[in-house]
Amino acid sequence: MSLLACPECKKKISDTTDTCPNCGYQLTPEKISEIKEEEKKKKRGCGIGCLSIIVIIIILGIIGSLNEINCNDFSGTYSGTSEMGFTTGTAKIKINNDCSATLTYYQGSMGGETEKGEIIKDGDSYKFKSTGGGGTYNLKISTNKIILEGYNWRCVMTK
Ligand SMILES: [Zn+2]
Repeated sequence: MSLLACPECKKKISDTTDTCPNCGYQLTPEKISEIKEEEKKKKRGCGIGCLSIIVIIIILGIIGSLNEINCNDFSGTYSGTSEMGFTTGTAKIKINNDCSATLTYYQGSMGGETEKGEIIKDGDSYKFKSTGGGGTYNLKISTNKIILEGYNWRCVMTK
């Protein structure tokens, strides 16, 4: 036995009764299953599906705001040295207000390269993501100083 709301007076009544004890409403087994069906639908209204969509939207919002960066804070041109294995060369990075960036490094006889990319934020850390397929490198930014690190090289540059 379970309780359901009387369609007439909305009071909770037993599903085994055939008359509402409050208002006298006549209940047939068909009517009872109809009421039960409607109550189920109401409960489902914003059930698990709806709730998980809300949770996903909130999570995406949090991730989005965490990874949002304002490159105005550190835009400019930084220059310094690049170290690749035992060789030292020069390096320069220009960061624009829109987070696009150009990295140029020159390793003496090993040659050099100019890589276009963008500054992205990944959790707590910044990264330089090459748009030319050159990879993603760790980027450390402190006041007027940038350290860019790859697998076997690093560039230390100041403003
Ligand atoms: Zn009733």
